[in-house]
Amino acid sequence: MSNVLVLVDHSAGKVRKTTAELLTIARRLGEPVAVFIGGNDGGSVSDALPALGQYGATKVIALSSPELSQFLVAPKAEALQQVAAKVEPSAILISSNAEGKEIAARLAVKLESGLITDAVDVQEGPVTTQSVFAGNYTVKSKVTHGTPIITVKPNAATPEAAETSPEVEEFEVSISDTAKTARITESKPREATGRPELTEAAIIVSGGRGTGGDFGPVEAFADSLGAAVGASRAAVDSGWYPHAYQVGQTGKTVSPQLYVAAGISGAIQHRAGMQTSKTIVAVNKDPEAPIFELVDFGVVGDLHKVLPTATEEVTKR
Ligand code: FAD
Repeated sequence: MSNVLVLVDHSAGKVRKTTAELLTIARRLGEPVAVFIGGNDGGSVSDALPALGQYGATKVIALSSPELSQFLVAPKAEALQQVAAKVEPSAILISSNAEGKEIAARLAVKLESGLITDAVDVQEGPVTTQSVFAGNYTVKSKVTHGTPIITVKPNAATPEAAETSPEVEEFEVSISDTAKTARITESKPREATGRPELTEAAIIVSGGRGTGGDFGPVEAFADSLGAAVGASRAAVDSGWYPHAYQVGQTGKTVSPQLYVAAGISGAIQHRAGMQTSKTIVAVNKDPEAPIFELVDFGVVGDLHKVLPTATEEVTKR
Protein backbone atom coordinates (compact mmCIF):
# COMPACT_ATOMS: atom_id res chain seq x y z
CA MET A 1 0.00 0.00 0.00
CA SER A 2 1.29 3.48 -0.78
CA ASN A 3 2.26 5.96 1.92
CA VAL A 4 0.16 9.07 2.46
CA LEU A 5 1.92 11.86 4.34
CA VAL A 6 -0.08 13.80 6.92
CA LEU A 7 1.47 16.96 8.37
CA VAL A 8 0.56 16.98 12.06
CA ASP A 9 -1.16 20.14 13.26
CA HIS A 10 -0.58 20.50 17.00
CA SER A 11 -0.20 22.93 19.84
CA ALA A 12 2.58 22.03 22.31
CA GLY A 13 2.32 18.40 21.20
CA LYS A 14 -1.47 18.30 21.66
CA VAL A 15 -2.77 17.03 18.32
CA ARG A 16 -5.59 19.11 16.86
CA LYS A 17 -8.84 17.48 15.75
CA THR A 18 -8.05 18.38 12.14
CA THR A 19 -5.12 15.94 12.23
CA ALA A 20 -7.42 13.11 13.38
CA GLU A 21 -9.61 14.03 10.38
CA LEU A 22 -6.61 13.99 8.00
CA LEU A 23 -5.49 10.59 9.31
CA THR A 24 -9.02 9.24 8.79
CA ILE A 25 -8.96 10.51 5.19
CA ALA A 26 -5.41 9.22 4.65
CA ARG A 27 -6.58 5.69 5.55
CA ARG A 28 -8.95 5.82 2.55
CA LEU A 29 -5.97 6.50 0.29
CA GLY A 30 -3.19 4.31 1.69
CA GLU A 31 -0.95 3.98 4.78
CA PRO A 32 -0.97 7.17 6.87
CA VAL A 33 2.52 8.39 7.77
CA ALA A 34 2.42 11.36 10.17
CA VAL A 35 5.08 14.06 9.98
CA PHE A 36 5.64 15.80 13.31
CA ILE A 37 7.45 19.13 13.41
CA GLY A 38 8.23 20.31 16.94
CA GLY A 39 7.27 23.91 17.65
CA ASN A 40 8.78 26.54 19.92
CA ASP A 41 5.99 25.83 22.41
CA GLY A 42 7.75 22.88 24.02
CA GLY A 43 5.62 19.96 22.74
CA SER A 44 7.43 16.81 21.70
CA VAL A 45 6.54 13.86 19.48
CA SER A 46 5.94 11.67 22.55
CA ASP A 47 3.10 14.01 23.58
CA ALA A 48 1.49 13.58 20.16
CA LEU A 49 2.09 9.84 19.76
CA PRO A 50 -1.01 8.45 21.57
CA ALA A 51 -3.40 10.55 19.43
CA LEU A 52 -1.54 9.72 16.21
CA GLY A 53 -1.72 6.02 17.05
CA GLN A 54 -5.38 6.29 17.98
CA TYR A 55 -6.27 7.54 14.48
CA GLY A 56 -4.22 5.02 12.55
CA ALA A 57 -0.78 6.52 11.80
CA THR A 58 1.39 3.55 10.83
CA LYS A 59 4.57 5.53 11.28
CA VAL A 60 5.57 8.92 12.68
CA ILE A 61 8.46 10.86 11.20
CA ALA A 62 9.76 13.39 13.73
CA LEU A 63 11.71 16.22 12.20
CA SER A 64 14.51 17.64 14.26
CA SER A 65 16.13 20.92 13.42
CA PRO A 66 16.03 24.08 15.56
CA GLU A 67 15.48 26.18 12.42
CA LEU A 68 12.04 24.64 11.94
CA SER A 69 10.67 26.44 14.96
CA GLN A 70 12.86 29.55 14.72
CA PHE A 71 11.78 30.66 11.27
CA LEU A 72 8.44 31.11 9.53
CA VAL A 73 6.96 28.61 7.10
CA ALA A 74 9.72 28.25 4.41
CA PRO A 75 11.91 25.75 6.37
CA LYS A 76 8.88 23.53 6.97
CA ALA A 77 8.22 23.31 3.22
CA GLU A 78 11.87 22.48 2.63
CA ALA A 79 11.78 19.80 5.33
CA LEU A 80 8.64 18.22 3.88
CA GLN A 81 10.30 18.17 0.46
CA GLN A 82 13.12 16.09 1.97
CA VAL A 83 10.65 13.74 3.66
CA ALA A 84 8.72 13.34 0.40
CA ALA A 85 11.96 12.47 -1.45
CA LYS A 86 12.58 9.66 1.06
CA VAL A 87 9.03 8.33 1.52
CA GLU A 88 7.76 8.85 -2.06
CA PRO A 89 4.16 9.30 -0.89
CA SER A 90 1.15 8.90 -3.18
CA ALA A 91 -0.41 12.05 -1.61
CA ILE A 92 0.33 14.71 1.00
CA LEU A 93 -2.46 16.00 3.25
CA ILE A 94 -2.16 19.29 5.17
CA SER A 95 -4.69 21.23 7.27
CA SER A 96 -6.31 24.13 5.42
CA ASN A 97 -5.24 26.93 7.73
CA ALA A 98 -3.10 29.95 6.86
CA GLU A 99 0.19 28.22 7.70
CA GLY A 100 -0.86 24.90 6.14
CA LYS A 101 -1.83 26.55 2.86
CA GLU A 102 1.45 28.45 2.65
CA ILE A 103 3.48 25.30 3.34
CA ALA A 104 1.43 23.42 0.74
CA ALA A 105 1.95 26.10 -1.91
CA ARG A 106 5.70 26.26 -1.35
CA LEU A 107 5.93 22.47 -1.35
CA ALA A 108 3.95 22.20 -4.59
CA VAL A 109 6.45 24.50 -6.30
CA LYS A 110 9.41 22.52 -4.96
CA LEU A 111 7.95 19.15 -5.98
CA GLU A 112 6.47 20.51 -9.24
CA SER A 113 3.22 18.94 -8.13
CA GLY A 114 -0.42 19.88 -8.44
CA LEU A 115 -2.05 21.44 -5.41
CA ILE A 116 -5.70 21.48 -4.35
CA THR A 117 -6.69 23.75 -1.47
CA ASP A 118 -9.71 23.87 0.83
CA ALA A 119 -11.01 20.39 0.08
CA VAL A 120 -14.24 19.59 1.90
CA ASP A 121 -13.95 15.91 1.04
CA VAL A 122 -11.26 13.56 -0.28
CA GLN A 123 -12.01 10.12 -1.61
CA GLU A 124 -10.00 7.38 -3.30
CA GLY A 125 -8.10 8.62 -6.34
CA PRO A 126 -7.54 10.99 -4.59
CA VAL A 127 -10.61 12.82 -5.86
CA THR A 128 -11.30 16.00 -3.90
CA THR A 129 -14.44 18.06 -3.46
CA GLN A 130 -14.26 21.84 -3.13
CA SER A 131 -17.00 24.37 -2.54
CA VAL A 132 -16.22 27.46 -4.65
CA PHE A 133 -17.63 30.88 -5.67
CA ALA A 134 -19.05 31.59 -2.24
CA GLY A 135 -20.42 28.05 -2.08
CA ASN A 136 -22.45 28.33 -5.28
CA TYR A 137 -20.58 25.49 -7.03
CA THR A 138 -19.25 22.15 -5.89
CA VAL A 139 -16.19 21.04 -7.84
CA LYS A 140 -14.64 17.59 -7.94
CA SER A 141 -11.01 17.54 -9.03
CA LYS A 142 -7.89 15.45 -9.21
CA VAL A 143 -4.21 16.34 -9.39
CA THR A 144 -2.78 15.19 -12.71
CA HIS A 145 0.88 16.09 -12.24
CA GLY A 146 3.31 15.00 -9.54
CA THR A 147 2.38 14.07 -5.98
CA PRO A 148 -1.12 15.34 -5.10
CA ILE A 149 -0.82 17.93 -2.34
CA ILE A 150 -4.20 18.61 -0.73
CA THR A 151 -5.15 21.03 2.00
CA VAL A 152 -8.27 19.86 3.78
CA LYS A 153 -10.75 22.05 5.63
CA PRO A 154 -11.67 21.30 9.23
CA ASN A 155 -14.69 18.99 9.64
CA ALA A 156 -14.19 17.43 6.18
CA ALA A 157 -14.35 14.01 7.85
CA THR A 158 -15.53 12.57 11.13
CA PRO A 159 -12.44 11.26 12.94
CA GLU A 160 -12.61 7.47 13.16
CA ALA A 161 -10.32 5.70 15.59
CA ALA A 162 -8.15 2.81 14.31
CA GLU A 163 -5.63 1.94 17.03
CA THR A 164 -2.02 1.42 15.87
CA SER A 165 1.38 1.51 17.59
CA PRO A 166 3.36 3.65 15.19
CA GLU A 167 7.14 3.51 15.22
CA VAL A 168 8.86 6.88 15.48
CA GLU A 169 11.66 7.71 13.11
CA GLU A 170 13.83 10.74 13.87
CA PHE A 171 14.67 12.45 10.58
CA GLU A 172 17.48 14.99 10.23
CA VAL A 173 16.70 17.76 7.78
CA SER A 174 19.03 20.42 6.46
CA ILE A 175 17.61 23.88 5.96
CA SER A 176 19.11 26.18 3.34
CA ASP A 177 19.96 29.83 4.06
CA THR A 178 17.36 30.98 1.52
CA ALA A 179 14.63 29.44 3.69
CA LYS A 180 15.84 31.31 6.79
CA THR A 181 14.62 34.74 5.83
CA ALA A 182 11.86 35.43 8.36
CA ARG A 183 12.81 34.72 11.97
CA ILE A 184 10.14 34.42 14.68
CA THR A 185 10.98 37.02 17.33
CA GLU A 186 8.04 36.45 19.66
CA SER A 187 5.10 34.10 19.75
CA LYS A 188 2.25 34.53 22.22
CA PRO A 189 -0.74 32.21 22.51
CA ARG A 190 -4.10 33.91 22.15
CA GLU A 191 -5.90 34.55 25.42
CA ALA A 192 -7.75 31.36 26.34
CA THR A 193 -11.54 31.68 26.18
CA GLY A 194 -12.26 28.11 27.27
CA ARG A 195 -14.23 27.69 24.04
CA PRO A 196 -13.26 25.52 21.07
CA GLU A 197 -11.18 27.01 18.26
CA LEU A 198 -13.55 28.61 15.72
CA THR A 199 -12.38 26.72 12.63
CA GLU A 200 -12.37 23.37 14.44
CA ALA A 201 -15.59 23.67 16.43
CA ALA A 202 -18.40 21.19 15.83
CA ILE A 203 -20.93 23.87 16.87
CA ILE A 204 -20.71 27.64 16.32
CA VAL A 205 -23.06 30.34 17.53
CA SER A 206 -22.48 33.61 15.67
CA GLY A 207 -23.83 37.07 16.38
CA GLY A 208 -24.38 39.96 13.99
CA ARG A 209 -25.58 43.54 13.99
CA GLY A 210 -28.85 42.29 15.49
CA THR A 211 -27.06 41.77 18.82
CA GLY A 212 -26.88 45.56 19.12
CA GLY A 213 -23.39 45.05 20.58
CA ASP A 214 -24.48 42.73 23.39
CA PHE A 215 -22.84 39.36 22.75
CA GLY A 216 -23.87 38.09 26.21
CA PRO A 217 -26.81 35.97 24.95
CA VAL A 218 -24.68 34.61 22.06
CA GLU A 219 -21.84 33.61 24.40
CA ALA A 220 -24.20 32.10 26.99
CA PHE A 221 -25.96 29.99 24.36
CA ALA A 222 -22.59 28.95 22.89
CA ASP A 223 -21.37 27.89 26.34
CA SER A 224 -24.50 25.85 27.01
CA LEU A 225 -23.72 23.86 23.82
CA GLY A 226 -19.92 23.74 24.24
CA ALA A 227 -19.72 25.82 21.06
CA ALA A 228 -17.35 28.43 19.62
CA VAL A 229 -18.51 32.03 19.12
CA GLY A 230 -18.39 33.71 15.71
CA ALA A 231 -19.35 37.15 14.45
CA SER A 232 -20.43 38.87 11.26
CA ARG A 233 -18.33 41.64 9.77
CA ALA A 234 -20.90 44.22 10.81
CA ALA A 235 -20.40 43.17 14.44
CA VAL A 236 -16.62 43.14 14.06
CA ASP A 237 -16.49 46.49 12.25
CA SER A 238 -18.60 47.99 15.04
CA GLY A 239 -15.91 46.89 17.50
CA TRP A 240 -18.26 44.49 19.30
CA TYR A 241 -16.18 41.37 18.71
CA PRO A 242 -12.54 40.77 17.67
CA HIS A 243 -11.70 40.19 14.03
CA ALA A 244 -10.25 36.75 14.85
CA TYR A 245 -13.87 35.58 15.23
CA GLN A 246 -15.22 36.98 11.97
CA VAL A 247 -16.87 34.41 9.72
CA GLY A 248 -17.06 35.05 5.99
CA GLN A 249 -15.23 36.01 2.85
CA THR A 250 -12.77 38.27 4.66
CA GLY A 251 -12.84 36.25 7.88
CA LYS A 252 -12.69 32.55 8.71
CA THR A 253 -14.30 29.78 6.69
CA VAL A 254 -16.06 27.30 8.93
CA SER A 255 -17.89 24.06 8.33
CA PRO A 256 -19.30 22.87 11.66
CA GLN A 257 -22.00 20.28 12.27
CA LEU A 258 -24.28 23.06 13.54
CA TYR A 259 -24.08 26.81 12.79
CA VAL A 260 -26.44 29.20 14.58
CA ALA A 261 -26.66 32.69 13.06
CA ALA A 262 -28.26 35.16 15.46
CA GLY A 263 -29.11 38.65 14.23
CA ILE A 264 -27.27 38.06 10.94
CA SER A 265 -29.02 38.96 7.66
CA GLY A 266 -27.19 36.39 5.50
CA ALA A 267 -25.19 38.59 3.10
CA ILE A 268 -23.34 36.66 0.38
CA GLN A 269 -19.98 37.52 1.99
CA HIS A 270 -21.10 35.99 5.29
CA ARG A 271 -22.55 32.91 3.58
CA ALA A 272 -19.22 32.36 1.83
CA GLY A 273 -17.69 31.49 5.18
CA MET A 274 -20.39 29.25 6.64
CA GLN A 275 -22.72 27.76 4.05
CA THR A 276 -21.00 24.38 3.99
CA SER A 277 -22.10 23.92 7.64
CA LYS A 278 -24.03 20.66 7.98
CA THR A 279 -27.06 22.17 9.78
CA ILE A 280 -27.84 25.89 9.80
CA VAL A 281 -30.19 27.59 12.24
CA ALA A 282 -31.05 31.30 12.16
CA VAL A 283 -32.67 33.56 14.71
CA ASN A 284 -33.82 36.80 13.11
CA LYS A 285 -36.67 39.15 13.83
CA ASP A 286 -37.25 39.83 10.13
CA PRO A 287 -39.06 36.91 8.42
CA GLU A 288 -37.83 38.23 5.05
CA ALA A 289 -34.12 38.11 6.02
CA PRO A 290 -32.11 36.35 3.25
CA ILE A 291 -30.52 34.00 5.80
CA PHE A 292 -33.84 32.12 5.95
CA GLU A 293 -33.31 30.98 2.30
CA LEU A 294 -30.38 28.92 3.48
CA VAL A 295 -31.38 27.52 6.84
CA ASP A 296 -32.48 24.09 7.96
CA PHE A 297 -34.37 25.63 10.90
CA GLY A 298 -35.37 29.25 11.40
CA VAL A 299 -36.75 31.13 14.37
CA VAL A 300 -38.43 34.49 13.70
CA GLY A 301 -37.95 36.48 16.88
CA ASP A 302 -35.80 38.75 18.98
CA LEU A 303 -32.49 37.02 19.73
CA HIS A 304 -32.42 38.68 23.16
CA LYS A 305 -35.47 36.61 24.05
CA VAL A 306 -34.97 33.50 21.91
CA LEU A 307 -31.34 32.76 22.87
CA PRO A 308 -31.80 33.00 26.68
CA THR A 309 -34.85 30.71 26.44
CA ALA A 310 -32.88 28.23 24.33
CA THR A 311 -29.94 28.44 26.76
CA GLU A 312 -32.24 27.69 29.68
CA GLU A 313 -33.73 24.67 27.88
CA VAL A 314 -30.32 23.27 26.91
CA THR A 315 -28.94 23.80 30.44
CA LYS A 316 -31.90 21.89 31.95
CA ARG A 317 -31.05 18.73 29.94
P1 FAD B 1 -27.09 43.29 8.84
O1 FAD B 1 -27.00 42.96 7.41
O2 FAD B 1 -27.32 44.68 9.27
O3 FAD B 1 -28.17 42.33 9.48
C1 FAD B 1 -28.60 42.36 10.80
C2 FAD B 1 -29.76 41.39 10.93
O4 FAD B 1 -30.14 41.33 12.29
C3 FAD B 1 -31.00 41.82 10.14
O5 FAD B 1 -31.41 40.74 9.31
C4 FAD B 1 -32.04 42.11 11.22
O6 FAD B 1 -33.35 41.72 10.83
C5 FAD B 1 -31.54 41.26 12.35
N1 FAD B 1 -31.92 41.76 13.69
C6 FAD B 1 -31.86 43.03 14.16
N2 FAD B 1 -32.21 43.05 15.46
C7 FAD B 1 -32.48 41.77 15.83
C8 FAD B 1 -32.87 41.15 17.04
N3 FAD B 1 -33.04 41.86 18.16
N4 FAD B 1 -33.07 39.82 17.04
C9 FAD B 1 -32.92 39.07 15.91
N5 FAD B 1 -32.54 39.61 14.73
C10 FAD B 1 -32.31 40.94 14.68
N6 FAD B 1 -19.63 40.08 6.18
C11 FAD B 1 -19.34 39.05 7.00
O7 FAD B 1 -20.14 38.69 7.87
N7 FAD B 1 -18.14 38.39 6.88
C12 FAD B 1 -17.22 38.72 5.95
O8 FAD B 1 -16.15 38.11 5.92
C13 FAD B 1 -17.51 39.80 5.07
N8 FAD B 1 -16.63 40.16 4.11
C14 FAD B 1 -16.98 41.17 3.24
C15 FAD B 1 -16.12 41.47 2.16
C16 FAD B 1 -16.47 42.47 1.28
C17 FAD B 1 -15.54 42.77 0.15
C18 FAD B 1 -17.69 43.19 1.44
C19 FAD B 1 -18.06 44.25 0.48
C20 FAD B 1 -18.52 42.89 2.50
C21 FAD B 1 -18.19 41.90 3.41
N9 FAD B 1 -19.03 41.56 4.47
C22 FAD B 1 -18.74 40.49 5.25
C23 FAD B 1 -20.18 42.42 4.84
C24 FAD B 1 -21.52 41.90 4.37
O9 FAD B 1 -21.80 42.38 3.08
C25 FAD B 1 -22.64 42.38 5.32
O10 FAD B 1 -22.59 43.78 5.40
C26 FAD B 1 -22.53 41.83 6.73
O11 FAD B 1 -22.39 40.42 6.68
C27 FAD B 1 -23.78 42.19 7.51
O12 FAD B 1 -23.67 41.75 8.82
P2 FAD B 1 -24.99 41.45 9.66
O13 FAD B 1 -25.76 40.37 8.99
O14 FAD B 1 -24.56 41.23 11.07
O15 FAD B 1 -25.74 42.85 9.64
